[in-house]
Amino acid sequence: TEEVLYCIGCGAGLQTDQPKERGYTPKSAYDKGVESGELYCQRCFKLRHYNQLEKVQMTPAEFRQILHEISEDNALIVNVIDIFDVQSTIIPALERLVGNNDIVFVANKVDLLPSDVKSSKIEAWLKKYLKDQGFKARNVFLTSAVKNKAIDDLFSFIDQHRKGRNVYIVGVSNVGKSTLINSMLRAQGFSDSVITTSQFPGTTLDLIKIPFDEASDLIDTPGILKDSQMTSLLDYKSIEQILPQKRIKPRTFQLNPGQSLFLGGMARFDYLEGDKQGVTVYLSNQVDIHRRKTEGSDEFLAKHQGDLLTPPSASEVERFPDLVGQVYTIKAPCDLVIAGLGWLSIKKPGKVAIYAPKAVDIFQRKPLI
Ligand code: GDP
Repeated sequence: TEEVLYCIGCGAGLQTDQPKERGYTPKSAYDKGVESGELYCQRCFKLRHYNQLEKVQMTPAEFRQILHEISEDNALIVNVIDIFDVQSTIIPALERLVGNNDIVFVANKVDLLPSDVKSSKIEAWLKKYLKDQGFKARNVFLTSAVKNKAIDDLFSFIDQHRKGRNVYIVGVSNVGKSTLINSMLRAQGFSDSVITTSQFPGTTLDLIKIPFDEASDLIDTPGILKDSQMTSLLDYKSIEQILPQKRIKPRTFQLNPGQSLFLGGMARFDYLEGDKQGVTVYLSNQVDIHRRKTEGSDEFLAKHQGDLLTPPSASEVERFPDLVGQVYTIKAPCDLVIAGLGWLSIKKPGKVAIYAPKAVDIFQRKPLI
């Protein structure tokens, strides 16, 4: 039998005949890659060259299995979450699933937050949040993988605390695991060639290993795309649009009861009762916000979703779920978070509603900013 070669981007075993399966690469690209020694699967090739994201990577069952396997290793766990989407990128059962292993939390993408926000405040907020969620682990790093913030600190911490153990980077999809690992490696002067792959028993997934020394590795694990995130309802063009790439410019709208905001065509905010107030929206700058009167908004959405109100794009509208409303009574300043999309910050008491696809989680939390 022929030797299996592996993608140097994601570690998948390469194959040339099943385009829909993991590790697919067209035959011509495969042959070229063998010659040059630069073998990528089509997915990684697209990601590198066109910056396209791939959607599904692992099923929740496979993800739990991997965490379970990790629990049997004596390891240091680095859990990457997205500071822009904390609630839905946290893995509630993580501590239970990884057993007695130490966990370090890395809140990535801090570059997206407005520049006047103090890191100390965010860190305090996050620590309290993790504590309230029942996490015992207290080590928190605020990083930006693209702006190289706190990357060296994180690497030094990992290197000091791993004590000869393997280090696993875990997290749901799109939190920036790969980008973070790349920036740590770059900072350490590693090159691609050190990357090896291995497979976890019982799964079809290949993990990427980067050797620390003879006995231990830094191990990248694939993520799951949670159904509760807006991103799981969209294709990658729209995902790119809603995943903020640049620092978020908060947008404030003065609203009277009876007025609504559309966040693209994906969600709607209704101001139902209260005094006139400014509501601030934290959302990818690439998504338009449309203010109008609440009356007739259902018809307005039906008419304009996919053209004036995007994402979803015209081609995604058909399978985009209906928006379902949920009423919230606001007593103190809070954020209403729409998983995977962003949040609205509300200061004054009143009654509001959020409309979003039913599968997408909405959270009410203390103001992050
Ligand atoms: P993974 O699925 O967890 O490995 O995530 P990726 O590394 O593929 O990153 C997902 C998306 O988030 C990509 O579009 C990255 O460019 C972006 N990203 C990763 N890290 C950062 C960061 O620190 N800041 C910002 N703004 N974007 C980031």
